[in-house]
Amino acid sequence: MKKPPEKIDAKPVSALAGRLQKLGIYDDSGLLLHLPLRYEDETQLTPIGGVAAGLPVQVEGEIEHAEIVLRPRRQLLARLRDDSGVLSLRFLNFYPSVVKQLEIGRRVRAFGEVRSGFWGEEMIHPRIQPVVAGQALPQALTPIYPSTAGLAQSALRKLVIRAFARTSLQDLLPEALRRGLRLAGWERSLRFLHQPPPNASQSALEDRSHPAWRRIKFEELLAQQISLRKAYVERRAHHATPLPARGTLSGRLLAGLPFALTGAQSRAVDEIVRDIAQEYPMQRLLQGDVGSGKTVVAALAMLQAAENGMQAALMAPTEILAEQHYRKLTAWLLPLGIEVVWLSGSQKKRERAMMLEKIAAGDALLVVGTHALIEDSVALEKLGLAVVDEQHRFGVRQRLALREKVCGRMPHMLMMSATPIPRTLAMSYMADLDVSVLDELPPGRTPILTKLVADSRRHEVVDRVRDACREGRQAYWVCPLIEESDALQLQTAIDTYESLSAALPELTVGLVHGRLKPKEKALVMDAFVRGDVHLLVATTVIEVGVDVPNASLMVIEHAERFGLAQIHQLRGRVGRGAAASSCVLIYVPPLSENGRARLKAIYETNDGFEIARRDLQLRGPGEFIGARQSGVPLLRYADLECDVDLVEAARGAAEEMLARFPEAAEAILVRWYGGRSQLLRA
Ligand code: ADP
Ligand code: MG
Repeated sequence: MKKPPEKIDAKPVSALAGRLQKLGIYDDSGLLLHLPLRYEDETQLTPIGGVAAGLPVQVEGEIEHAEIVLRPRRQLLARLRDDSGVLSLRFLNFYPSVVKQLEIGRRVRAFGEVRSGFWGEEMIHPRIQPVVAGQALPQALTPIYPSTAGLAQSALRKLVIRAFARTSLQDLLPEALRRGLRLAGWERSLRFLHQPPPNASQSALEDRSHPAWRRIKFEELLAQQISLRKAYVERRAHHATPLPARGTLSGRLLAGLPFALTGAQSRAVDEIVRDIAQEYPMQRLLQGDVGSGKTVVAALAMLQAAENGMQAALMAPTEILAEQHYRKLTAWLLPLGIEVVWLSGSQKKRERAMMLEKIAAGDALLVVGTHALIEDSVALEKLGLAVVDEQHRFGVRQRLALREKVCGRMPHMLMMSATPIPRTLAMSYMADLDVSVLDELPPGRTPILTKLVADSRRHEVVDRVRDACREGRQAYWVCPLIEESDALQLQTAIDTYESLSAALPELTVGLVHGRLKPKEKALVMDAFVRGDVHLLVATTVIEVGVDVPNASLMVIEHAERFGLAQIHQLRGRVGRGAAASSCVLIYVPPLSENGRARLKAIYETNDGFEIARRDLQLRGPGEFIGARQSGVPLLRYADLECDVDLVEAARGAAEEMLARFPEAAEAILVRWYGGRSQLLRA
């Protein structure tokens, strides 16, 4: 993910530099930002006679005995004596250098945890340091750094001390700003964290609530905000074709819809309408829980492009979803005399050629498709608006590819996501985007009832399916996720399909999975949409976006294997019509702690934002932002749960610094990202 800057690439990397790079350290500044995980107190000596078992202590004495014994296994045993007593030291793995340090008569300090062993008190694998009598004790706590094989703590410590001497420790935060935010000074904070005085509160250091930690975390967040804010501002320097609202087509679509927009939808539409009328490219994230009605918002935006004679493209991550969008848009727009064309990887050559021609000629203004849209053969010269559905499913590059379809100008971009993003996450990692939120579901939905059922009771679940379908409803049965292999998941799906078909002879059961040819997949999905298939057995291919309002029961097998966001998505496939819906999660005990926490969360709440928040807690932001911004370095020190106040403060401070202290803002970027800040401009 992180690329080393040029200067290290240019010459052969030394072993040391290689190890440092593994830790993400490329220069002195990086060393100073490599902060300790914890500390050990070597500022004091404990008399051997006074040591208590279970606590880490430092003792000093003379080696009075040392031998390598071979039984019960090879080990080095030594005895250390001071005026107050004797302590055994034991090493199961040791280098010759340790044997040398422990020769009889040598004076050493040993640091470690004392245990009561067979032969009295002992330390296993203590840290040993040769000393002369009366040698001064360290004046600071000893930092323990995150490290890697072949890089000793002592070596890291020396490097850090050298880095302190060679690096500018200038405070890059303007004084007034720093005081206003009541933040500690930079140099003081760094020195404190690398070399805390003996009386420092270990707990404030450990939970990172100490003012020194707050200062570091603030600056880390500030660097992130500055880079994203810069990207945001730079975008406005690009040109886009303004697409002012003309209302001709969108008004007719609204009039023809069988429903009125929710307040949240209207707000989002207003925001988008205003944005794409500008001459710089919109970059907006539309997030709304499953079923919140993002598609119609996208359709209205796309129409606005068409009203201006420009093209709009909607890209979806799967064939099923792309095709569903195509149908929906066609149903809405054909009555208005607007043709929607469709591109997918599985299309027949002739059909595809025809579509490509229509697109290239600019006859087709609205295009829907999968990744097939970004292939070189697709000429979207008049692309005014690009919509990316389930944007987290695409990589940065794929989204950029769509943008690069147009020469000289940028299309407006609307990214949609059904994975709600917790507020703090949006405020930090997504600060380069504008965000519209659909925080309201269309009226008339009944809440989904979620049930947890142990695998031993699956026959009851089968009965439930029978009952639901007898009442004219439909059901999904999602097969377990098998991480090791798609093939296994496929086999499980086939087995499940067969056993359910046998158990429910009165129902028509369908099977859909990723290995089906798109044609076959479409046939099954069509039958399900029409209601000809009652029960649809599926792998996770149906996870995103499938919309069949008559389906009211969702069964998920081995639910403990799924991620929170994924189950929430799957559950969102039901509860789309007026009928009471339920979601049955079949799990196989015993549950892991994390599995239990996930099921508990999904059981307790239907609120996508709350689920996202818990997901963030359980998994951290890494997986969360996924491919969206693989160029954005993850936060190392700040924590989006505990440091909300710092995120907010950093946001304001970033604006102010860019406006009033642009040089200091740049210097902060260099300090935190070195040559890598370019990566942020995705
Ligand atoms: P998602 O946000 O998950 O993509 P969709 O756009 O697929 O949701 O919408 C879910 C369902 O709700 C669709 O059947 C859609 O036609 C319907 N819908 C959208 N907006 C409204 C509304 N304002 N009132 C009633 N139904 C709506
Ligand atoms: Mg959708």
